[in-house]
Amino acid sequence: MRFDVLTLFPRIFDGYLGESLLHKAIEAGLVQVHTHDIRDWSRDKHRKVDDRPFGGGPGMVLQVEPIVDCVEAVSRQAETAGRLVMLTPQGRRLTQSVVEELAEEPRLILLCGRYEGFDQRVIDLLQPDELSIGDYILNGGETAAMVMIDAVVRLIPGVLGDEQSSVDDSFSHGDRLLEFPHYTRPRVFRGLETPPVLLSGDHQAIARWRREQSYLRTEQRRADLLPDSTESATGTTSDPQTPTLSKDSRDEPRAD
Ligand code: SAM
Repeated sequence: MRFDVLTLFPRIFDGYLGESLLHKAIEAGLVQVHTHDIRDWSRDKHRKVDDRPFGGGPGMVLQVEPIVDCVEAVSRQAETAGRLVMLTPQGRRLTQSVVEELAEEPRLILLCGRYEGFDQRVIDLLQPDELSIGDYILNGGETAAMVMIDAVVRLIPGVLGDEQSSVDDSFSHGDRLLEFPHYTRPRVFRGLETPPVLLSGDHQAIARWRREQSYLRTEQRRADLLPDSTESATGTTSDPQTPTLSKDSRDEPRAD
């Protein structure tokens, strides 16, 4: 999969691209990430790409000409035009299901804003997929682009050591619930024991316990993720009128 990142600050990506999973994925040829400096498409001798907003007010606005020129030139650099994504707090929210949708694309072109954001005509002309990573304001789209790349590459076959780990992850396809708790050595730490079922070797019992824990956690922490009517962990259909857990059990302190 190919990512093209359009930014005023390409060097922000250097450290991130050179480390850990992403570095390995690039080395293995599973992922390509190309960064492009938007200023290279400036029509100004000082490489300026922003100007004061018409109508007055604080801040600077990214100009339409260099952005459109940059997007069009970068699009032509590969056979597949790819999907153009604009990082913006005003876009639809990036969720795991949107990440899964993006991971199906052969190529993503990520447009990172700065200052007050883009001249509206960039959006009108290019009609990008406008995506937000949450309801807060960042200084620029670069960190949002990194979040997106990080989430998407996990889903590319071969990037994770074990494909199952992205299937079990919280919010992931299938049930979209939070993941169950994990334990590793030592078996006991300061009196806190590993649940015996995990040491039992009984794979069916382990799978059942994990499903239950996943459901309980979701109900305790993120009840909004539960569908109105769903197969509960114990296999019975839960009804919003008769929740699987009593209120008391939801209020108990977390065991993890
Ligand atoms: N004035 C804009 C507004 O109120 O909608 C915010 C501009 S913000 C300071 C500068 C850039 O950061 C944006 O153009 C966008 O690329 C990026 N950005 C900020 N918050 C973001 C978010 N929550 N998700 C994605 N990108 C974001």
